[in-house]
Order: sequence, then structure tokens, then C-alpha cells
Amino acid sequence: MTTRVLCATVRERRGTLIAPRSFLDNSAFPHMRLLAAAILVTVATAPTADAQGPTPAPSAADIARARRVLSATPLVDGHNDLPWAIRENTTAPHDVEAYDLRKTAPGHTDLARLKKGMVGGQFWSIYIPGEVKDSGYARIQLEQIDIARRVIAKYPERFQWALTSDAVRASFKAGKIGSMLGLEGGHAIENSLGALRVYYDLGARYMTLTHNVTLDWADAALDSAKHGGLTNFGKEVVREMNRLGMLVDLSHVSPGTMSDALDVTEAPVIFSHSGSRELVNHRRNVPDSILARLPKNGGVVMVPFVTSFVSKEVNAFDEAQAAAVADARRRLGSDTAAIRREGEAWVSAHPKPKAYLSQVADHIEHVRKIAGVDHVGIGSDFDGITDLVVGLEDVSKFPSLFAELSRRGWTDADLKKLAGDNVLRALKQAEAVSARLKKERPPSTKTIQQLDGKVAQ
Ligand SMILES: [Zn+2]
Repeated sequence: MTTRVLCATVRERRGTLIAPRSFLDNSAFPHMRLLAAAILVTVATAPTADAQGPTPAPSAADIARARRVLSATPLVDGHNDLPWAIRENTTAPHDVEAYDLRKTAPGHTDLARLKKGMVGGQFWSIYIPGEVKDSGYARIQLEQIDIARRVIAKYPERFQWALTSDAVRASFKAGKIGSMLGLEGGHAIENSLGALRVYYDLGARYMTLTHNVTLDWADAALDSAKHGGLTNFGKEVVREMNRLGMLVDLSHVSPGTMSDALDVTEAPVIFSHSGSRELVNHRRNVPDSILARLPKNGGVVMVPFVTSFVSKEVNAFDEAQAAAVADARRRLGSDTAAIRREGEAWVSAHPKPKAYLSQVADHIEHVRKIAGVDHVGIGSDFDGITDLVVGLEDVSKFPSLFAELSRRGWTDADLKKLAGDNVLRALKQAEAVSARLKKERPPSTKTIQQLDGKVAQ
């Protein structure tokens, strides 16, 4: 099964799906992903959302403060998978024209909801799977850049191509969403620093070093660690990203890779969509030992709305489901119909817990507690998730999160930092580091063969 088919499979509507993409994308059991997708476990339709769950209703004053803050400062979301949603759209795959954001889109993102959500800047994720076997990574990466750039160009009344921190602020002032690209992940460069440079030229302003698969030069969080972090070539990738002014994104990588990247980088790093591992022990989250290094580095952890990252209960459910799938497979072998029946029975016997907006706020406050208010942001992962946080169901809901933090005592200045000031400061610092390094050294011509002794791919 190709990854493309797999991803198309998991993009079914809510209520009748299988292993949700958040499970496939972020499962602590990556070896089971294909199986989980294949057996089509039917998840019971979610009951009507019990309004706020444990999140108290915001007061009018908190809502007013959220709106005031987001009118004055661009809310820059670190991760939205709309370009992948368009690629995998079941009715018209890859078709930017057919996926009309001026109407209500099938996913979490369209122009009306972005406006309601007061989004002022966006890193559009140009995700490509690390499991592709029938193509080089670069072809798919270039196709995703093409889709993302055409989406941005198609709606000039709302989107504005932005290549710098100042350009995002200028777009916001003009009433538009400053639109940048975030490359997810480093397999796209196919071990080539030349390819990395061209991706920068095409607009990529961050690169997630890995997705879920360990690379020749970097360990991923959800795969086995082969290098103990970054290899010498991996460190050279980070140095070249610093020279270019491309933010190093440490979501999806192992703690060893996080640590090595922090040792090497001269510019702030980001985590485009990761929560706190102290609160939820999911491998995609960030340990406190790494959070504690952010003040010195200047980086930003952008907290996502991924249910299994923010809720202990959802994380435990996903792990139990994966274990049940593995057990059924061991016992039933190739009898996929029987495995499917067992999967359905398991799900109906184990109603899926929900995650709530207040839990997202808890992660934001934990990052603030350990790293500081200058080092926290938001990276929703909308259109890359299928299981949704109650209260944060699409891009129109961002102000509710700011209202909740206002209720918890966050000041206007704090909320502005969270919204966009922190990540735009990190990007601006990366631009300054780049300007300095470009004077100090030429583009790197190092190869993975030279640095790691590997044979060319
Ligand atoms: Zn991701």
C-alpha cells in the first residue's frame, strides 16, 4: 500500500473512520500504522459535543480582550496542513481550483473561518510522508510547494506571500494573512544541501528535521534511534539552515536530535506543533529538559490541538487501541475480516475519550512555566488531524483559546507574545543570524559521504 492511498483512506469524514490521521501521523506505534489503516476499525460517531467540557465559559470581558489582542497582533499559526488536505481531497485530489476556500471547505480551513478565527499569519505546512516507496521525496515536495503557492496566489484578497518576519507584519497591517511555508520534513532534501537551498528560495521558512521516519542523518521521535541524534551531516544541515535563515523545526524529532540541534544552532529553533511531555507522555511532546534550554536559544514551542498530545486519556486510548490491533493481528494472522470485526467490537466497547480546550491551555501554561512566556506559541495542526479538541474544532475557534488564557490571568502583552510576537521575533533573529553568517562563509558544499561516510543514494 502506498502512503498516498493510506492517507487518502484516513481522510474520511469524521464518524466513519478508522485510525485517524492523528493516530497515523503521531502514533507511538508507527509499525502498526499500515495495519491500523488497513483493518478499517470503525470509530463510533462522536456524541454531540458537551459544549465546553471542563473548560469554563469565557466571560464577555475575556472574549473582548482576546479580540482586542488579535486585532493588534498577528496570530501566527505554526502548522496547518491545508496543502495536504487539497492533495488528498477525495472528490478532486490535487485540485487547487476545485477546493474553493471562498465556500465552506470540507476540512477545517476556509476564508470565512480564518477571518472569524482572526488568523493573521500562517505557516502552511508542505508535508510529505517519509514512508514513500514509489517516488523520490523531492517530486512530492515540489508538488506540495506548487499546491501551497497556488493556494496563496488564488486568494489575493486574503493571503499574502510573506518571506520575512516584517513581511508577515506588513500583510497583517494590510488586512491579509501573511503566508509562509513550513517544510515537513528533512527527507525532502534527499541528503542534498543544494536541494535545501532551493527549497529556501521556493519559500520554505522552516524545515522540520524529520517526520516520523528516522533519516540517514537525524533520529525521529516515533522511529528507532539510529544515530543518537544528529550525524555530522545532520549538524551541517542545521548550520546551513542557520546560514540561509530557515528556522530549524524540532517537532517530530527525538530528544537526542533536539539536544544536538540546540548544541549546534546559532539561531532560535521552533517546535511547530508539539506539547509538553511532562503533561502527556507522548513521544511527540517536548521534555522539560529541552524546554529549559529555550530561554538561552530564543526558540518557541508552538502547542498543537492534537488530542493524543494534549490529553492523557486520549493518548492512553490510542495506545490501548494499537495494542488491541497488534494482539488481534498476532492471533488472527491474515484474516482481515476477523481482525476488522474485532477492531469494531473493541471500539464499541471502549468509547473514545475527548480532549478539551482547557487541556491545550494547560500545555501552553506548562511551556510558559518551564521555558517562559517569551517561548510559547500555537501550532494547531488543523487539516492534519481528524480527532478534534472540544472547543477548538476549526480555524474559527482560536479566539476562544485566548479568552480562556485571559480568564487565567494572562495580560495583553502575554497574549500578544503567544499569538505571534514570539515566533516573529524568533524568525527575525534567524534572519539576523543569516545575514551575519552569509558574510562569514559561503554555501556549504559538504556531502553526507564526506561527513558520515555514507554511499550516495
Ligand atoms: Zn506533523
